[in-house]
Parts: sequence; C-alpha cells; structure tokens
Amino acid sequence: WFQRLATGLKRSSDQLTGGITAVFTKKRLDEAMLEELEDVLIQADFGVETATSVTDALRRDRFDRDVTTAEVRAVLAGEVARVLAPVARPLDIDPAHKPFVILMVGVNGSGKTTTIGKLAQKLSAEGKSVMLAAGDTFRAAAIEQLQVWGRRTGAPVVAKPTGADASGLAFEAVTRARAEGSDVLIIDTAGRLQNRDELMSELEKIVRVIKKVDPTAPHATLLTLDATTGQNALSQVEIFGRRAGVSGLVMTKLDGTARGGILVSIARKHGLPVHFIGVGEGVDDLEPFKADDFARAIAG
Ligand code: GDP
Repeated sequence: WFQRLATGLKRSSDQLTGGITAVFTKKRLDEAMLEELEDVLIQADFGVETATSVTDALRRDRFDRDVTTAEVRAVLAGEVARVLAPVARPLDIDPAHKPFVILMVGVNGSGKTTTIGKLAQKLSAEGKSVMLAAGDTFRAAAIEQLQVWGRRTGAPVVAKPTGADASGLAFEAVTRARAEGSDVLIIDTAGRLQNRDELMSELEKIVRVIKKVDPTAPHATLLTLDATTGQNALSQVEIFGRRAGVSGLVMTKLDGTARGGILVSIARKHGLPVHFIGVGEGVDDLEPFKADDFARAIAG
C-alpha cells in the first residue's frame, strides 16, 4: 500500500521537491539556501519548529559543503519520521467493551461520514460486527449517506428523521448495540461550525447520555481533519480537543492537497495519536497511520 500512499501524497511531495530543487541551484550549502529552505518548509505547513530543526541539522553537518537535494530530502524525512513516530498509534478496539463505542466528531465536510464508512468496512473485514448511528440529525443528506454506507458494508444503521434529538439517538444506539451484542458502535455527530458553543454543548450532552448506558463509553472519540484546510486543522484540534475530549485523529484528503505537512505541525503541537489517514474517496482509502511510510512518501 506504500505505492498508494505515495500516489496520494504526490501533490504534497511534488510541491516540496520542486521547492527544494529551486533552492539548491548551487551545490555548496550557504546561509541563503538554508533560509530559503526554511521558507519552503513553512509554506508547506510543516511548521516553524520542524523547518528550523531541518535547517539546523543541515547547517551543523553540511555547511559550506556539497549537498544534493536527495540528501536534503533524506534529512527532512528523518525529522518528519522522528516527530510523527510517537503519535502513530493504531486504534485499539478493546474487546472487553461490547460494544466498543466510537464517537466521530469533526466539522462538516471534514470527511466524518466517509471515514465512518471506511472504518466500518475495515472492522467488518476483521470479522467484527459493526453498528452505525446517524447522529448528525440536522442534515438529511448525512443520515442518508450513512445509510448508504450501512448497506454497502452490511452494518445496521440506527437512524431517526431529521431534527431528532441526537443524544436520544445515541442512547438508543448504545442500548441496541449492547442488546444485539455488536462489537463496535460508531456514532456520527453534527459538525456545524456556525454556532460552535451549541455544537460543543451538544457533543457534551451526547457523551453524558452515552455514559448512562455505559459509564466507560465512549471508548474512543475520533476527530476527522481535512488536510486541505491546512492551518485551520490546527485550530479545530484545539476546539474539539478541549470540549469533546478527543482521543485520536484521522487526517483525511491527504490525496487532494499539497499541505500534507500540516500533520507534522499538529503532531508537534498537540501530540494526539493519529490512527488513520484518508487518501481517497473509496471504501479502501483509509490506512493505518505509519510515521516512516508517511515521511518517505511526503519527502519524495
Ligand atoms: P462530513 O460532512 O464530515 O461527514 O464529510 P463527508 O464524509 O461527507 O466528506 C465530504 C467530502 O469529502 C465527500 O465528497 C467525500 O467523498 C470526501 N472525502 C472524504 N474523505 C476523503 C479522502 O480521504 N480523500 C478525498 N479525496 N476525499 C475525501
């Protein structure tokens, strides 16, 4: 699957490689080149710290010596892998919880519903029984979309008409999943950003109500982040992380962006586990996150 990841990250890595190649027109490494390289990395959303670590390493080891773009990319890949290694952690579905409750949160359009579908597919393929709950009760399209994913993956979907109370639906879903002995329940949620406070209160209420059925739930609260939004993703981690108790991240749309470096900024700033990355719209386009592979794919 490394090839698919590399293809997905092609826009990020092409832009980066282009930027690096443009900087290293001369062979001997000088201060001007290091400064330009720093700019290229910051533009690519890697963040100031990572940009500085890379240029510091080059200054220390290579200053006034011949350096190739391949060597520069290798230093970058090493730094990216080093930052990402501690956050690359698989999503552990503890079978002691039946169901293992996953709450999916994120702003509209971040890929929440698609990720739920992909995850349902993955878990079903592992032999787990999965139930879905259409908790974005505001949008008819979201309910319908989840039902489509349910049919596609064979997962039953708990849904109510548009406008229904989301926490009531979550309560019903946990109760039903428990009664039916489902291994995993994935609950979709609304992602309106127009009224942030209202949205966060609703998420808090869903969590409170879920706990009435199972005080240990939700067992994972996953935030989907759209990589194409770049720096916006950083503030979303802040907002959702604080109020919704996010336990892990899924970075989506890494295939459609030149801003894949944002994952490195987020890892450095927040240190939250990154469980999966989305590299396409298809059902199989969700991959467990691996630091080394990502670093190699993005650094080209
Ligand atoms: P939600 O509003 O957060 O539930 O977002 P959706 O799941 O409806 O996704 C919004 C759009 O992004 C849809 O057109 C998806 O097909 C698309 N999408 C989701 N994940 C990915 C991904 O990893 N790569 C690409 N290219 N598109 C994605």
